[in-house]
Amino acid sequence: MSFTLPQLDYPFDALEPYIDKLTMEIHHDKHHGGYVTNLNKALESAPQLAGVSIEDLLANNCAAAPESIRTAVRNHGGGHANHTMFWKIMAPKAGGQPNGKLAEALRSIFGSFETFKDKLSEAAMGRFGSGWAWLVKTPAGKLEIYSTANQDSPIMEGKFPILGIDVWEHAYYLKYQNRRAEYVAAWWNVINWSEVEKRFLVGK
Ligand code: MN
Repeated sequence: MSFTLPQLDYPFDALEPYIDKLTMEIHHDKHHGGYVTNLNKALESAPQLAGVSIEDLLANNCAAAPESIRTAVRNHGGGHANHTMFWKIMAPKAGGQPNGKLAEALRSIFGSFETFKDKLSEAAMGRFGSGWAWLVKTPAGKLEIYSTANQDSPIMEGKFPILGIDVWEHAYYLKYQNRRAEYVAAWWNVINWSEVEKRFLVGK
């Protein structure tokens, strides 16, 4: 049993003009593909972990992984989990604002959707170098915004990612070059809120 690269639910060009086709193709096939390949390679030396879910591999700072492959599991396993979520929480003809219980929760915590949007965008802009900005559910069931470096996943520290934006340059450089702020602003137009709400409702 090894991990496989999940297919996108939409064509590479479906998120244009906000995220361009070539970026999506390279990002999915080469970057995410690379994380999956390297995760599987690392796990070859730990056959006792065959069949363990990605969430269980990442839990408690990758405690299940032997020390010799823990960094590889953290980087490539984190990359696999993060991107698997990322493709799902985006969709063509999406964006706008969430409805229902998620909208209520965001309003009650952040005051308004706009404030939530500003805070998550700030987290994305404030992450120095490569990483992710997140809306997570904490073990206590609270919603929280923060960012992580590299491919570190909130799952590593017991948090459930509801929504996250990849701010590695590979996610935007071809179209936006150094203009991360423009990429972050454009990304709000492709958020698949029904999927995000689903994650909010099931997230532990
Ligand atoms: Mn990426």
